[in-house]
Amino acid sequence: MRRKIVAGNWKMNKSLAQGLQLFDDIINSPDHQQTNVLTIIAPSFIHLSAVAEKVKTNPNIAVAAQNCHHLSSGAYTGEVSAEMIKSAGAEYVIIGHSERRLYNNETIDLLIQKVNIALKNKLTPIFCIGENSDERHSNKHLEAIKSQLKDTLFHLSAIDFGKLIIAYEPVWAIGTGVTATSHQAQGMHNFIRAEINKKYGKEISEQITILYGGSCNPQNAKELFSCLDVDGGLIGGSSLKATDFISICNSF
Ligand code: PEP
Repeated sequence: MRRKIVAGNWKMNKSLAQGLQLFDDIINSPDHQQTNVLTIIAPSFIHLSAVAEKVKTNPNIAVAAQNCHHLSSGAYTGEVSAEMIKSAGAEYVIIGHSERRLYNNETIDLLIQKVNIALKNKLTPIFCIGENSDERHSNKHLEAIKSQLKDTLFHLSAIDFGKLIIAYEPVWAIGTGVTATSHQAQGMHNFIRAEINKKYGKEISEQITILYGGSCNPQNAKELFSCLDVDGGLIGGSSLKATDFISICNSF
């Protein structure tokens, strides 16, 4: 059975003290004691090791980086490698987030390298895919997702592909307050699983975790997470308030 996952992407928010406080408020809450859900927290790079230090003894919570560099090391001022992330205590890394694709011009080639180097360093990529609003409105969303899967992930061997977490994040729903309906989310998650089935077979397609992301909040999480092919969420805005995030973690 696929494990349920709720991942909080803090983006460029929280000072160190605020981040550690938020983390403590989440894990020390009596409402956040469920063992059937893996909680993943993605703070900024400079808070990674401090947060990772706190998760060491808890098998139900883990830490993710929000990005990694595509090369292993070298003269790349200001950058952070997958090896550094792993050594800071993180087990996961978000790759391909639409904000990075847009603001940092992350191309398909770059994303392929990032996935490869993350896996080489034994980090689990949480790989984001999602159509934009033009693609959705012109009914090209399935085609768009199919190409994203094929172009950025289908070069992987079955063994490596099976290590991924996929996050379906329709770009029009990220940070907009507009959420995909459960019908839209289930339709796309099912489509993604079917594409994986075609490429890698039934076992891998049924074992892979597919998260939904895009204005998921305490009000809509239950309905979204009740969909057969939705295994949890990648949460932005609602991960910044402990009570909201815990409520989402409890929405299965
Ligand atoms: C995200 O950025 O991955 C995200 C899902 O953000 P939000 O929940 O704020 O839409």
